[in-house]
Amino acid sequence: MFINEGLLIKQGSKGLSGISVPSCGLKERDINKKARELINEKYIRKKDPCLPEVSEPDVVRHFTRLSSWNMCVDLNFYPLGSCTMKYNPRINEIVSSMGNIRSLHPLTPGRLVQPVLKIIYNFELMLKELTGLDAFVFSPQAGAAGEFTGLKIVKKYFESKGEDRHIILMPDSAHGTNPASSSLAGFIPVEIKTGPKGYIEAKEVQKYITPDVAGIMITNPNTSGLFEKDIAAICEAMHKNGSVVYMDGANFNAFIGSIRVKDLGIDLIQLNLHKTFSTPHGGGGPGGGAVGVVDYLRDFLPVPYVVFDGQNYGLFQGGKNAIGRISPFLCNFGVLIKAYAYLLSLGSSNIPSVSEIAILNANYVKKRMKGIFKGADLFEEELCMHECVFTDKAIEENKISTLELAKLLIDYGFHPPTVYFPKNIHGAIMIEPTETESIRTLDNFIRAIEKIRFKAKKSSALKSPKKTKVKRVNEVLANKNPVYRY
Ligand SMILES: *Cc1c(COP(=O)(O)O)cnc(C)c1O
Repeated sequence: MFINEGLLIKQGSKGLSGISVPSCGLKERDINKKARELINEKYIRKKDPCLPEVSEPDVVRHFTRLSSWNMCVDLNFYPLGSCTMKYNPRINEIVSSMGNIRSLHPLTPGRLVQPVLKIIYNFELMLKELTGLDAFVFSPQAGAAGEFTGLKIVKKYFESKGEDRHIILMPDSAHGTNPASSSLAGFIPVEIKTGPKGYIEAKEVQKYITPDVAGIMITNPNTSGLFEKDIAAICEAMHKNGSVVYMDGANFNAFIGSIRVKDLGIDLIQLNLHKTFSTPHGGGGPGGGAVGVVDYLRDFLPVPYVVFDGQNYGLFQGGKNAIGRISPFLCNFGVLIKAYAYLLSLGSSNIPSVSEIAILNANYVKKRMKGIFKGADLFEEELCMHECVFTDKAIEENKISTLELAKLLIDYGFHPPTVYFPKNIHGAIMIEPTETESIRTLDNFIRAIEKIRFKAKKSSALKSPKKTKVKRVNEVLANKNPVYRY
């Protein structure tokens, strides 16, 4: 099924072009002459640019073929734990590509784009309702950028109080971006061990609480897919110490419509619009890291952000405590509007089913895996939230590693789960089905894992994937010596 595909530049024929427009009847002018008057000679090209001369169907077919060489949410089940690769409803694309929205210039003055500011403002109202928090900004353009913004807010908050607090606590299961963001924001991250049941225990956190602790950064549900049961007690202990509780809300699809994070005691959060709110993502973008805070942190929010005086929408440019700009513009509007369309198309009555079905699907996989992956579920008795994690214990018995399981799954037509993360689970296999998958897809996926577990041979595993355009790559070599052309 994979046709060899040459470079587009080699597929052209002289004189061919995508579209033919009729002559408009105007006289042609030599723009080169005019250009020479206006532009320094050294910037004017000597030769025509080397562009492919191809027809429109050639271009469409070329790129459609290339796109089919990859695994994507529109073609394959994509249970990549921690990444929430849910199906992206087309209604979002339709709304975000409407002409007057798609062609917006980011520097258009606010008074000329009042409806756009209204969308941003209304979206903020929705997030406030869903979280209980008091204000949101959208300028961070990814989850990690949201974390960094949140921590800069914490830093500025203590600076404004004249307190020098330099420690951020975080569990050992934290996403790699958490320690990175806190170091970048000028804190020292200190790791707390996860308890035997997979969540952080308040009594363990208590041991680390000192006057130097600015806050705790806690992912909830955590990276093992479990609800942090002690969260309320942890928040209370932190607040007693004058510290701030930051929640990494990248996994908000397990909560949306069911729990308001403020009720747990959370002070600030980042929500990954590209995950929970169904924007297509992966391979580095695009993203949106909405940051929400409770009232006492509002003054420190990055600027500009949208405000409403009852009549007009405007841009607040910041008071003396604002941390400044995080990105050049107000937000990644293409992402925000998809998130907005997603919420509106669900309606408030359907939003809770997102988290309910995400949790149901993950628990279905977890329970069905019980017989297949004996002894590989460290938290077998616990219910999970939106994802479930296994060790490599069961597949070790048929001498197959986590990496080989991942590669074998590709030949069954599934994107692999997240592997070897979180670090504190041996050979971790992390499955996040998301709420957009049917029971039939889940059953097919489980059947594939079952076949691999009981039938796969090491020799065959080492050569997988076999059915893809690019076969098994030497990953070390590919990292050290990437080849961009072939
Ligand atoms: C995805 C994720 C992040 C990082 O988000 P990016 O948008 O990739 O920067 C942070 N924390 C958790 C728990 C995540 O799942």
